[in-house]
Amino acid sequence: MVEILSLRKEISPISPTILGNFIKLQRCEQYLGWELLADDVTGEESRFSKSILSPLYAETGTQFEYSQLRSLINQIAADKIIGPEDKDIEGINWDETWNGNNDIIQKIKNIDESGNNKTIIAFQPSLKGKIGSWELKGYADIVIIKLNHRDQTSSSLKIQLEVIEVKSSPSDKTHHRIQAACYTLLLKNLIENEGEINENIKFSAYIVNQSNSITNKGYSDLDSFKLPPVETDVQMILKRTGRLENAITETGDSTSSGEKTIKKVDPWDMFNRITRRCDGCPYENVCYTRAVENDGLELLGIPERTKKTY
Ligand code: SF4
Repeated sequence: MVEILSLRKEISPISPTILGNFIKLQRCEQYLGWELLADDVTGEESRFSKSILSPLYAETGTQFEYSQLRSLINQIAADKIIGPEDKDIEGINWDETWNGNNDIIQKIKNIDESGNNKTIIAFQPSLKGKIGSWELKGYADIVIIKLNHRDQTSSSLKIQLEVIEVKSSPSDKTHHRIQAACYTLLLKNLIENEGEINENIKFSAYIVNQSNSITNKGYSDLDSFKLPPVETDVQMILKRTGRLENAITETGDSTSSGEKTIKKVDPWDMFNRITRRCDGCPYENVCYTRAVENDGLELLGIPERTKKTY
């Protein structure tokens, strides 16, 4: 039996990439089971291997991201470019490097009107915080911090935060938006804890892909997407007794006082329906091998709720 609080602690922080993949894989709960509950299912000691992304594909994604950053720097007269100390990218010199998780909040706080610090390009800032009931941690691709002007009616500054996720796919996908919304929510929550800067910040989010690259179409032509419905989706997944919690827990025995307990789902007991969504899942080898070995209905793509009728 597990307390939900200790389970949250045990598997946190969760990466926004995992949430994005969960959406990409048509909300496959088995995927969450492998990622969050299984011990080393594809590790060295395991008989299963991970279906890894081709190194060439991964390298293409990294180079695309760097090329978009270079174009952005060329197109925006940024006062400062901040990036990770350990990333040496051809043609880019960091003015500053990151100093731990959530350092971007200090940069937002320190933005000033003096003329030296009005627009900052933040590359891969590390963000860690809570959304709903779960702690998340990840690296946003690019955040642009812009000081617009001092509000005429108050003494506070107007700041624009633009979260840009860069993906080398041909077009914009829902799971990319989910990742961007994780970062806007993390930023909002972290900023809310900083009472003095939370009032005048406007957020927007963009997905850059091959069809609307900054390199070809330009930064000024990027279209933002509507954040609220996507942020709501993320919040629904991560809320207490939300989709994530329901996927990885089940009701256990009752205590002597009649209270219900919960326990972790055993990922090896989950039903792994094999469908087209599995193409590209890192656990395709695991699920497919198990299905073949068990002569399972998983291979027929039959939904869990109907399998008992066969
Ligand atoms: S291979 Fe298919 S069933 Fe298995 S975790 Fe991935 S998406 Fe889910």
